[in-house]
Amino acid sequence: MRCSSSSLQTNPYFSPPFTMRFVTDRMLGKLSTWLRILGYDTVYAADEDEDGAILTFAEREERILLTRDRDMIREANRRGIRCVHVRGDVVMDQLKELLQHGIDINLEPVPWRCSVCNGVLRKVKDEGGDAILLAKSYVPKDRIGKTEFWVCNRCGRIYWKGSHWLKMREQLKQIKNERKGKQE
Ligand SMILES: [Zn+2]
Repeated sequence: MRCSSSSLQTNPYFSPPFTMRFVTDRMLGKLSTWLRILGYDTVYAADEDEDGAILTFAEREERILLTRDRDMIREANRRGIRCVHVRGDVVMDQLKELLQHGIDINLEPVPWRCSVCNGVLRKVKDEGGDAILLAKSYVPKDRIGKTEFWVCNRCGRIYWKGSHWLKMREQLKQIKNERKGKQE
């Protein structure tokens, strides 16, 4: 059932502050990235993962299944697996759907989890940290010593709160304001 290229692997870096964990189907790569940026342990199924394997993984790990596939939703419901049938085409709409389904996701981006591999980030410390930063061509060298950097424990990717980060916060602010408007 499980082939070597499967993505359905337990994340060894379980993070207590974010208790909800997700597994997403092959159509929801962008949503997976966003959930990781929001701090959630999110496994994104690979093309090779069959529906049955994804369902079993969700069940075993008690992850919330996010899928666009009606048949998978039906089967998840039959097996008592918590799931959300995601219908929106764009990621902001998809995040709103999760909220509407009672998944109270934190809408603040946190430097906690790698958006690429789902590993946990740790702060790059001063001692020897510069060498890690200098080794990566995409790190803005003029910011070293002036800003905080984080490194992924699993793949080594470097993160910092740059313009991309600020743009994401703006996008999320819109969802937060909409929610606030509804609550008032
Ligand atoms: Zn990583």
